[in-house]
Formats: sequence, structure tokens, C-alpha cells
Amino acid sequence: MMTDPLIAALGNAKQQVSTIGDQSDRLGRSAHRRASDPLATLNSSMSTRPRRKASPARLQRENTHDEIYEKIYVAILEHRLHPGTKLVEERLADIFNVSRARIREVLARLAHEQIVELFPQRGAYVAKPTIEQALDVFEARRLIEPAVLRRLIETFTPEKLARLRQHQDLEVDARRRDDKRAVIRLSGEFHSLAAELAGNTALARSMRELSVLTCLMIFLYDAPTSISCRADEHSQIIDAIAKRDPVRAERLMLEHLDHIESSMKLETTTEEVDLEAIFRTG
Ligand SMILES: [Zn+2]
Repeated sequence: MMTDPLIAALGNAKQQVSTIGDQSDRLGRSAHRRASDPLATLNSSMSTRPRRKASPARLQRENTHDEIYEKIYVAILEHRLHPGTKLVEERLADIFNVSRARIREVLARLAHEQIVELFPQRGAYVAKPTIEQALDVFEARRLIEPAVLRRLIETFTPEKLARLRQHQDLEVDARRRDDKRAVIRLSGEFHSLAAELAGNTALARSMRELSVLTCLMIFLYDAPTSISCRADEHSQIIDAIAKRDPVRAERLMLEHLDHIESSMKLETTTEEVDLEAIFRTG
């Protein structure tokens, strides 16, 4: 029997919810959401609607939208949904047991974040960034991430440091288990977490989009041997943050981005292809 790639990628909806819940707990996010932490506002700031007191029915509706969004987002981050995969509305509506209109809302939000591409008459596809777009993403990251670290160091608290170290522990653990999907997702999330903790919601939002685009680029252009961020580089960056050394932190981040970029094959071929040489038989 043919396995539906969407079902394979998104799995059992209930199971997925509990997995995401576990991650939130391990990251201590649930506790933070209750407190007046800048992170608590992040999810609401990403929502397409302003946060307000909602009736229970309305709250239920928003949670469902966010849950579906999160499941598709994580499946893309973890390379369970590959760039270029068609996201068929009816099937997603079946999988998540919601209306097609709800799925369309979620797809529109993902499209707004450039993670999904919508084509008239053809539907929605997981984005497939071109080499040119990939180079743009790195240019943007080189501008944004040093600013993120400067702001994070200016607003340093032991709690923020603890969050970064906690996240790093999850990453180290995933590497030890050789869980490549988790490693790719957690490496991307390290950069978004730093931006969230820096406390500028506009930077955090951009960083979240740039990290997921980087994950798609890693899938498309990475050399087969490497997986996203190098093992020890995040911990060196965290150490520089702990020492409140913005110059060192920024330098390490730029080197880190160089390493990620150079592990991808992003050269555009401008030379003319010698067809004769390719097809000449020995
Ligand atoms: Zn990294």
C-alpha cells in the first residue's frame, strides 16, 4: 500500500500534540507563558489576530489553528515534509479533522512566513528556496544575528542564560542519540530562542522565519555529510553571552554562519555546460 506522504509526515495528530507538549515542558515554556516573560507574548505576537479575551469557543478555535500550524511547521523543520511537497487541503483537513477553510487559514499564515508557496489553481507546496534566496537568507542573518546577540547581552539575566543552556542540553542529547531530525530542529530553534530572549518581537519573528528557511535550504543544498549547525559552536556562543562579551559573541556568530553557509553547495553555475564532454563515450 502506498503511504500518503502527508500522513507519514504528520503522523497521528494526538501523538504529535503530546510530543510538542513534552518539548514545551522540557523547555520550560509552559511555565514561562504564565509569567510576564517576553517569551509569553511571542506566540500571540506571531498570531495573525490580536490577543484578546476570548470566549471558550473562540479560544478552542485559535488553539486548533495554532496546533495545526505548529505541527506542519515542526514537520518542515524536521525534514519530515520535504521542500516542494504538495500540501493537499482535503487531506490535511481529514488528518486534522477540521474544515478546509481552517487549513486554508493555516496555509495562508505559513505562506505569509514564506515557508509555504501558494500557486493559483495548483495549491500549496512546501517552499523550495532558490540558491539566490538562500544567499539572501544568509545576508539577512549576518545583519540580524549580531544585533540579536548585542541586545541579548544588554538585557542579560541569569534566567535567559539558563534557558539557552537548557536548550543546549536538549541539542547535545539529540546528537548523542543520533536523532538527526531533532538535531536539525533544535539547531534552528537555538537561533530563534536567542532572538526571543533578546526581547525584540520584530527581530524574533524575522529570525524564526529565517531559521525555518535555513532548514529548507539545508535539505536542498547541504552536503550529505553535514547536518546544520556544528556541534560545539552554540555552546561557545552561549559562553560568550555568559561572559557578556558582545564582540566575541558576534564574531563567533558570524563564523558560525560562515560554516553553515560553506557546508551548503550554493554556487550558481555560470559556465557553459560542455554537453559534448558529458555525452562523449569513452
Ligand atoms: Zn546554529
